[in-house]
Amino acid sequence: MKGEIIAVGTELLLGNIVNTNGQYLSRKLADLGIDVYYHVVVGDNLNRLTETIKTSLKRSDLIITCGGLGPTVDDLTKEGVSQAMGLKLLPDKKSIKKIKYIFNKSGRPMTENNIKQGYIPEGAVVLENDNGTAPGVLIERDGKTVIMLPGPPNELYPMFENKVFPWLKAKADSTIRSKVLRVIGVGEPEVEDMLKEIFNSQTNPTIAPYAKEGEVHLRITAKTDMPEESDRLIARMEQKVKAILGNNIYGYDNESLEEVVLNLLQQKKLTISLAESCTGGLITSRLTDIPGASASVISGVVSYSNDSKINILGVKEDTIRKYGAVSSQIAGEMAAGVKKLNNTDVGLSITGIAGPDGGSAEKPVGLCYVGIAIEDSAKVKKFIFNGNRKKIKWNSSSRALDFLRRELLSL
Ligand code: ATP
Ligand code: MG
Repeated sequence: MKGEIIAVGTELLLGNIVNTNGQYLSRKLADLGIDVYYHVVVGDNLNRLTETIKTSLKRSDLIITCGGLGPTVDDLTKEGVSQAMGLKLLPDKKSIKKIKYIFNKSGRPMTENNIKQGYIPEGAVVLENDNGTAPGVLIERDGKTVIMLPGPPNELYPMFENKVFPWLKAKADSTIRSKVLRVIGVGEPEVEDMLKEIFNSQTNPTIAPYAKEGEVHLRITAKTDMPEESDRLIARMEQKVKAILGNNIYGYDNESLEEVVLNLLQQKKLTISLAESCTGGLITSRLTDIPGASASVISGVVSYSNDSKINILGVKEDTIRKYGAVSSQIAGEMAAGVKKLNNTDVGLSITGIAGPDGGSAEKPVGLCYVGIAIEDSAKVKKFIFNGNRKKIKWNSSSRALDFLRRELLSL
């Protein structure tokens, strides 16, 4: 089934709001194995809306619109769809009764415009709106399906979830399944090179790389008539990829790096404290985003200045003088210092130059050292990141977490 999503609203064209409904609907249709070939955004203009629907009806089997079902004069989706399909808009008794009831209950005055929301194209199915006044609409005609959903996400999501998804699921002719392998430590070109043969010979399942901030995500997608068969194909592909990428795969689907690291700390019953300079607490913040972090995360120190590194973490003044605050030696002393200060199993430190100033030929912007102290030893890794301050902070926090992940795996 070929699907198409049309977002209606001048606000979208002006850039006042982001088309998150389009993203949401696309994801849901992918889960159902419905190929989405077009996303269209059109303003609140009856002619252009009608033309758009006509064009879409020529090339797609399923059209889902969002927005423009409300009571105001610029809400024109039903009018546009009706004109494009040659259907009359007729009052729907049940919908009008419900709209009247809602207004009565809330004590808000109802205008004639509100009744407009209860007009439905002839022969259409009404999708009740449990979170607003504008009902959704489903039309099946000449082998095409048009589904109109309200714009506000708090109305659209439940309507899709409860009414449209089950309807489409019953209709969808194949089962698509997918799994995401999350990779860190190797860049996208490198991943593509390593998996060259797999990429070149893929059919079903397919595998596609997506570059994410500091990570690469590989989506494996299989399409068969049976979910179990799709799962089997995915598992086989996953094994092939794993044999090549190994530990660079840190997690699956929506699992985050911080979640994986925290799970490892918990599995190994280890506590951790952190000393962050250039990341300003970002690593601690990411770890504490995960519920249950308190079982492992004992303390995080943001030690930005030299004095704080010396006074709080016990870094030697002499070491700073000799090697500078951004150095392998200081990262090592910070990690050991914070571990001792908090009496934890693991100490993690980071020191670097996030820019835009402060770099030199010898120590460029983006240079970072991450230290990890476990038991009596401290290991330090050097990284050089590109990009602006924010990107350097984010990527260095990710690579620090990844370094820790790899160390924990090797314990
Ligand atoms: P209403 O009854 O509230 O007028 P509607 O179905 O007519 O709803 P619109 O008037 O087009 O929908 O949009 C109402 C609000 O819904 C927008 O102001 C915006 O907050 C949200 N919205 C609309 N379209 C989208 C979209 N594509 N993605 C995300 N949010 C959207
Ligand atoms: Mg509206």
